[in-house]
Amino acid sequence: MGVQCEASVMLRLGEQETTMAGFDYTLVQKWFGRARFQLLDLMRGTQSLTLLKELEAVQFESQEVIRFRQKKMLEAYLDSMRDVPYYKKHKSITEFPVIDKKFINENRESLLNRSYGGKIFRKKTGGSTGEPFVYVTGVKSQSYLWAGILLSWRTAGYHLGEPVAILAGSSLFTSGIKQNIYYGIMNARLFSAFEMSAKRLDTYAREIARGKYRLLYGYASAVQELAEYLLSRPDRPTFSLRGIVTTAENLTPGMRETIERAFGVPCFSQYGCHDAGISAYECEQRKGFHLITDRCYPEVLEDRRLVSTDISNEALFLPRYDTGDLITMSDEPCACGRGFPLIAAVIGRSNDVISDQAGNTVHSEFFTHLFREVQAITAFQVAYDGRTLVVNLHTRDTDTDWSPYKERIQKSLAVERIDFIQNQPFMKSANAKHKFVLKLPEIGLYYETDDCTAKEKSDKDENPHQA
Ligand SMILES: [Zn+2]
Repeated sequence: MGVQCEASVMLRLGEQETTMAGFDYTLVQKWFGRARFQLLDLMRGTQSLTLLKELEAVQFESQEVIRFRQKKMLEAYLDSMRDVPYYKKHKSITEFPVIDKKFINENRESLLNRSYGGKIFRKKTGGSTGEPFVYVTGVKSQSYLWAGILLSWRTAGYHLGEPVAILAGSSLFTSGIKQNIYYGIMNARLFSAFEMSAKRLDTYAREIARGKYRLLYGYASAVQELAEYLLSRPDRPTFSLRGIVTTAENLTPGMRETIERAFGVPCFSQYGCHDAGISAYECEQRKGFHLITDRCYPEVLEDRRLVSTDISNEALFLPRYDTGDLITMSDEPCACGRGFPLIAAVIGRSNDVISDQAGNTVHSEFFTHLFREVQAITAFQVAYDGRTLVVNLHTRDTDTDWSPYKERIQKSLAVERIDFIQNQPFMKSANAKHKFVLKLPEIGLYYETDDCTAKEKSDKDENPHQA
């Protein structure tokens, strides 16, 4: 079965090459598609289309050429920041300390580039501790944001102007009349990842099929949930998709396999951290993310934290900004021939760690490794309070004996009890993103495991006799 599915996806990859040659994307469609994005650029005051064209060409340049250009761009960027008060305190990029959201919130005035006279874009994200983080970018950075996203869509077979279904929460799109007009011009429709009831999933699937959407773009967990729903149904609608791009969350091999099986098209992952100027995309090899280094100056610290300077942000100077993400870079050049360096893996957030009362810590990566070998597991979430750890597995095989896995966790973490539960809904963060690891004040308030239920029942049975 698995081999057959793989073959069908491979076939689609082949088909996609045919479509990319332009057989079902006419010159008229191409003209109108470009016109849509030209209009968007005009309205937003951006130059995404010009940058996209540029990136599509330079991505195949050699690593040396790309590195040399980045060096020149970094120098030019630093030169343009010389009037920024914070810049004056240091001489070279390596002298700057690593900064985070808290630092930026407290030092905003000294980071602003007042000699920049172009359009300013206000951005808001959730901070690591929940406090909102507000920052600004300029035309170039905002243009790179969209050019990077479009580049990942293009790699998945999308042509400009084709209908796109976006399945996500508030970190990916904002609502409002202006935004709705933008999405309308882009030919994109938003499907909310906040409400994912079976009825809603059914409606989403039918509408994505009926609307002949060519690309599905969204949170990895939301797309995965829709895929799982589809696989559980005997009557799957026929889709017109060319490909799928997931973003904002880690796409595990199991999730990718489920999504491709459900939709029958290849699924790509995209990785971005706009405030750090990070924009990266998977190529058809899907061995990692090509990092667009024309936009940023990245550094990987010893603890694998990704630190980056957005060299396209003309409005705000954020040198050596901590993304909070842990990554590994690949030493090997990619077989696709693209020269942008390859992020081999985004391991997770640096604060995605579980610690027990004895002070032992494990990163969420530990669980990713633990469950990688089990084909039947499509996704997981680990929740814990000080004493209990609950592993919620989404799995096709409900007969597995999980005790060897419990033992392996027990060797690394001293918790009083470990419960494995299966196919229960995941808890989402406020912006509807999937979290691999959750720390909860008291686990019993959130989860009802089989063991817990049994215990509660027996307590209740005993109580009347004691009274
Ligand atoms: Zn590649």
